[in-house]
Amino acid sequence: MITTTSPTIVHYPSAASSTEMAADSAPPLSRSRRNIGEPARYWPQNSTIKIAMYDYDMDDEYVLAVKKAASEWLPHINLKFEFVSGEEGDVRITQNMNNAGGGSSAIGTEALDKSPASPTMSLPRDHKHPRFEYVVMHEFGHMLGAHHAHQHPDANIPWNMGKVYEGYNRIAGMDRQAVQNNVLPLARSDQYDFTPYDGDSVMHYEISPKLTHGDWGQSETWSLSDGDIAWAKKAYPKAVPATS
Ligand SMILES: [Zn+2]
Repeated sequence: MITTTSPTIVHYPSAASSTEMAADSAPPLSRSRRNIGEPARYWPQNSTIKIAMYDYDMDDEYVLAVKKAASEWLPHINLKFEFVSGEEGDVRITQNMNNAGGGSSAIGTEALDKSPASPTMSLPRDHKHPRFEYVVMHEFGHMLGAHHAHQHPDANIPWNMGKVYEGYNRIAGMDRQAVQNNVLPLARSDQYDFTPYDGDSVMHYEISPKLTHGDWGQSETWSLSDGDIAWAKKAYPKAVPATS
């Protein structure tokens, strides 16, 4: 599900990539990335997001697995998720049929701009895969308005530009535009809220040292990091309890 016509849809390198990445046998990895949000695409504060499980054949076990992983964000935000079956929702989730382990999502309220007839998020088919929860958290991060941590302009990833386009085409099926949209640094712009240092963001791709200079690499962190939580609390702050 890599598209080029919709540059703000962001994609996750898939389980197919993870097989190949594993073959890359990464050395010990450095961690020095940051989180990024796009406030203009945040949902209204304290709102309820209606999330449609779009495919008619999603079984209860699958839906439960999505809810469980997505709910990792809930203690840290002031939004509520309302899961419904069917095709009507602010967010519409389909299972990724083209790429078994991959996912994608609109950024925040960009979901509202999409045709009501099409999904706004795709998730891996296999909810028993060990990476499933991670991919769900990652795509829900996008849905909440987060961009990729590795695209922070301060990440200073020493990309080997001679290899990065070919590499992400091979491991994730991305064309050049998709690599620019999903992998390479974002412009240093007021459009984004760059939050403080986060070494372990769930919004960071695994990065193969084969695509960088000097053996720079990054592994995946399969849980929300302190930086992810700090971003979520800043984007959707819970009300301060009233004092009597
Ligand atoms: Zn992503």
